[in-house]
Amino acid sequence: MTAHVKPKALENFKARDFRMLIDGTWTEGAGQPIERIAPGHGIVVSRYPAGSKADAERAIAAARKAFDDGPWPSMTGAERSNILLKAADLIAARADELAFLDCIESGKPISQAKGELGGAVDIWRYAAALARDLHGESYNTLGDGTLGVVLREAIGVVSIITPWNFPFLIVSQKLPFALAAGCTTVVKPSELTSGSTLVLGEILIEAGVPAGVINIVTGTGPEVGAPMTTHPDVDMVSFTGSTGVGRLTMANAAQTLKKVSLELGGKNPQIVFPDADLDAFIDAAVFGAYFNAGECCNAGSRLILHTSIAADVTARIADLAKKVKVGDPLDPTTQVGAIITPQHLAKIGAYVDGAAKAGALVALGGAALDLGLGQFMAPTILSGVRPDMAVAREEVFGPVLSVLTFETTEEAIRIANAIDYGLSAGVWSRDFDTCLTIGRKVRAGTIWMNTFMDGASELPFGGYRQSGLGRELGRHAVEDYTETKTLNMHIGARTGWWMPR
Ligand code: NAD
Repeated sequence: MTAHVKPKALENFKARDFRMLIDGTWTEGAGQPIERIAPGHGIVVSRYPAGSKADAERAIAAARKAFDDGPWPSMTGAERSNILLKAADLIAARADELAFLDCIESGKPISQAKGELGGAVDIWRYAAALARDLHGESYNTLGDGTLGVVLREAIGVVSIITPWNFPFLIVSQKLPFALAAGCTTVVKPSELTSGSTLVLGEILIEAGVPAGVINIVTGTGPEVGAPMTTHPDVDMVSFTGSTGVGRLTMANAAQTLKKVSLELGGKNPQIVFPDADLDAFIDAAVFGAYFNAGECCNAGSRLILHTSIAADVTARIADLAKKVKVGDPLDPTTQVGAIITPQHLAKIGAYVDGAAKAGALVALGGAALDLGLGQFMAPTILSGVRPDMAVAREEVFGPVLSVLTFETTEEAIRIANAIDYGLSAGVWSRDFDTCLTIGRKVRAGTIWMNTFMDGASELPFGGYRQSGLGRELGRHAVEDYTETKTLNMHIGARTGWWMPR
């Protein structure tokens, strides 16, 4: 762990003032801007407009007009694809600036933020390729008198609402696919980390996305996000965030029966058998628990270890976790950065205290770290956790690893499935049958086998049960932003309904 004072990179730093993008115009908000205090440095780094309901409504009207009258939905796939490819190049060219913003606003390590930018550029290129391959189906099997053609049409105006933990990566899992399909959009980033999304607005305008096709409104959820989920002119809501707000989003959208896509929380298990490559697993356990300070929907926050290896493996994980470098997010060697807000740090601490009171053992960490500026949490391990404890069932969203144990494969599956979430899971064994049995029986959208938290633009991602609805990424991601229309065509003379056929 490294104590730090204001780093050199921020010595002459001036907070950046942003404006929001509505109908191709950069605008100020009416009220006092939202100030973002860097979680790892304790100083104001960004100011965004505090958008209002009226701003959200203006943005929706602009997106509606751009969809109904504008050129974007009628362009060829190739034209949209070329604009998205240009956007990808511009993102790559400004990757350091974007990574810096995500780092200082969210508190994540700069090396990790740069990695996320690389992943995002790949997604924009992948979506650009899919823009040219979006097509429906034809049925030439319905008899001589009928030809059926199934069209894929852009669904219309899409509201995109994103969280703070992966600011640029998550908007990149939604926006390029919506644009590829020909939709127009209103985007609301988290009020804690809006900077990189606003720079993306500049990039998209420069790449040639027409005014009104991309609108970005900053502000709070209740003020800006809520009207984006209820307004009758919005056709679809794509939301990533907490399960609680996801539930509210779905209820709001139900009033006008909008399509809803939800990427929500997780409490993801790693199930480990005695025959696994334990060295590889121990590294993955530390990575899974502490990557992004555990503020990750995919965090491997529950270990389900076979009883015969539990004590030894837990001790080895603790040894490795002690070496994880927690510190200044701007230090290129930092592996774990700051916690998003002081309130969230307190919530994480309360989970640890609650688990200890319920009988878990704090095997490592368990408290906040004072590094001079900002708020940090020590990598924490709780052993002796029972499946009924809150810390085993609820998303802590911090660097807290819960260790549970099992005797039989059936018991491991039962423990893994005994929660409301189903986002992802890992299984570790050298036995093919064991991996496939777990892979098929655990109810989660992604199962990693002998690895953890890998991914690719080609692989669909999303959750079972209360982890969400729908899938992002993968070759069907563009289709999610479309409606299906049937053209049922008659060939030759038609027999009237009253006449015998
Ligand atoms: P959050 O639900 O508090 O906020 C997410 C977004 O919703 C923010 O932009 C917020 O302003 C907005 N919002 C809040 N209230 C709203 C309302 N009433 N109407 C409309 N919008 C509203 O989540 P968060 O704290 O920003 O992010 C952390 C959560 O996100 C965790 O639960 C995490 O698991 C989840 N997450 C899921 C995935 C995934 O892909 N499954 C990825 C990242 C994060």
